[in-house]
Amino acid sequence: MSQFPSYRGRMEYRCLGCENRYSIDELHYTCPACGGVFLLEDTTFDVLRQYSPTWWRQTFDGRAASKRTALRGVFRFYELMAPVLEEEHIVYLGEGNTPIVEASPTLVRQVGQAIAYKNDGQNPSASFKDRGMACAFSYLKRLVALHGWDEVITVCASTGDTSAAAALYAAYVGAPLTSVVLLPKGKVTAQQLAQPLGSGAHVLELPGVFDDCMKVVEYLAEQYRVALLNSKNAWRILGQESYAFEIAQWYDWDMAGKAVFVPIGNAGNITAVMSGFLKLYDLGIIEQLPQIFGVQSAHANPVFRYYAAPPEARHYAPVDVRPSVAQAAMIGNPVSFPRVRYLVERYEQQGGPGAFQVVEVTEQAIIEGMLLANRHGHIACTQGGECLAGLLRARELGLVEPDAVAILDATAHALKFADFQTMYFEGTLPPHYGITPRPELTNAPRAVLDEATKTSLSPAEYTRAAAEQVVALLGLRRR
Ligand SMILES: *Cc1c(COP(=O)(O)O)cnc(C)c1O
Ligand SMILES: [Zn+2]
Repeated sequence: MSQFPSYRGRMEYRCLGCENRYSIDELHYTCPACGGVFLLEDTTFDVLRQYSPTWWRQTFDGRAASKRTALRGVFRFYELMAPVLEEEHIVYLGEGNTPIVEASPTLVRQVGQAIAYKNDGQNPSASFKDRGMACAFSYLKRLVALHGWDEVITVCASTGDTSAAAALYAAYVGAPLTSVVLLPKGKVTAQQLAQPLGSGAHVLELPGVFDDCMKVVEYLAEQYRVALLNSKNAWRILGQESYAFEIAQWYDWDMAGKAVFVPIGNAGNITAVMSGFLKLYDLGIIEQLPQIFGVQSAHANPVFRYYAAPPEARHYAPVDVRPSVAQAAMIGNPVSFPRVRYLVERYEQQGGPGAFQVVEVTEQAIIEGMLLANRHGHIACTQGGECLAGLLRARELGLVEPDAVAILDATAHALKFADFQTMYFEGTLPPHYGITPRPELTNAPRAVLDEATKTSLSPAEYTRAAAEQVVALLGLRRR
């Protein structure tokens, strides 16, 4: 069994606005001096260079088989993530290590590109948010032990999946942690609402959209003693870096000819993916950076708009979102935008121009991306569909090498977003989505007999009558 790592780093919050640094013994979300967002930095990271890339690869590969609880999930990559936590702080609920599934040959042929989905919907609360929560809650346990706190109220605003993950981890860790989640009423799916309710969280519904709830949560975090779990909380970003580490590890640390597609909502995930690959590159663990594509819906596209302008004319402005089937990414003012801007500069310095791109896709393309993927055996959510739409768009624009392997992020499980599939199939998507269902992509259950007929028949007659109707419907041939 692998040892728990002995390396301990010295981590600090580093403000991307004014460069001030703060101790991690306090909870900080934004810079007290300038209001900027933080990245967490290990100031002794250079020590890690003493070990060769081969040593790192072997160490991480060795841990992949470990039965040591603290190393089974995202903390397999402990030294690169949060090397200030002790083993007893680490919470593991089965997150991370999600499968990378090659697309079916038919889908590959149809699209004309090698494709693999990384199924982050196979995390415990069925989205990638569990990666970040595992790290944030492990850090909270450290703080509770350090300060002897007897009550910690965790809060988050959510488009549905952050709250599901936060409530799950809070329920597992238990006292002194409690979980409060703020949701935009009617703008999370039934499944996403059921999750925090089932975990016993305080679920508060507010009128408006995610951005409205986020402002309320920020107000609370500024004025009251609560622990904020949105991705403003930099510990979440660290945990989510594991997504990049796992991709690199799966491809034997060879990122040449790989293009990674990530939907952008609050921009936490794309931040983490860039940061993760940059760390691996920095230590020589990977010798080439993959190309990274952020994908946004035309209905929630502030990051796309920013990068669509030539460098000298770039200007960030929040947008008012319109309804999007990629509802988990329906965010007009991404909290992590300053992190994106900071990391993109580094990513392009190391990876060359074009190493980072943002593409915009239509609502129609997003939902049809999901339906197309799932008709070929995948379990993509609408945001996973957005990634396939993003790949198609990138191909159209000639931004992706034809022989590259496209790794698409199915950020949540298809079941969480089944409501949108139903509305598409039933033709009940409200017009403001701007989606017209195509009959060849719809599907509906067909009735075989009815209740009254069943009652009128004996059990044997019922079986025969039902079977005969199935035969007629499907045109079955006798053996
Ligand atoms: C949160 C979320 C996103 C958006 O990720 P950000 O980090 O906010 O950009 C995309 N898809 C799903 C399923 C999510 O839960
Ligand atoms: Zn600052």
